[in-house]
Amino acid sequence: MLGAPGSGKGTQADFLAVSLGVPAISTGAMLRDAVALGSALGGKVESIMASGALVDDGLMAEVVRERLSRPDAAGGFLLDGYPRTTGQAETLDRILEALGVQLDAVVLLEVPETVLVQRAVARRRADDREEVVRERLRVYREKTEPLVAHYSQRGLLRRIDGERSMPAVTAAILQELGVQA
Ligand code: AMP
Repeated sequence: MLGAPGSGKGTQADFLAVSLGVPAISTGAMLRDAVALGSALGGKVESIMASGALVDDGLMAEVVRERLSRPDAAGGFLLDGYPRTTGQAETLDRILEALGVQLDAVVLLEVPETVLVQRAVARRRADDREEVVRERLRVYREKTEPLVAHYSQRGLLRRIDGERSMPAVTAAILQELGVQA
């Protein structure tokens, strides 16, 4: 799942996971859990997350490699919030190659920027203060948006209009993936 912060990709990933019968793996949720638990990982990422910046690619590679090798991901998975940089996309290719699996599709949720800011500020998560929201959007444009062209060139990109009701977006994604709701 690819999309700006506030595009609804986390919510959609959770709905889709139920329909597809695979785990939704959210790196953001995993990192927030680590912070809440006070683990070593949590200690490393807490201030980075609070600022709206990205956690470094090396650390994320470890988190994702470990998560994807768990048994529940063996029958497929949905990735939400990873990869977020071209370096992460390359790392993901290597991780998937080692696991002997391939990406079926990259779903891009498209939502206008004004709507993204409204949604994020209404959500009131710790990293959802308006200046942090704007920073996360800036980081998205700079670091993550290049992945749109990257996956489009590979023929994997599925563009979805994310400015609709949650069930309408879920239905559109399932239709695009050729899955019966
Ligand atoms: P999210 O819930 O996906 O918006 O992620 C919340 C925060 O966690 C981000 O603003 C980053 O600080 C961090 N994060 C989540 N996923 C990644 C990733 N793939 N690479 C780097 N940082 C990440």
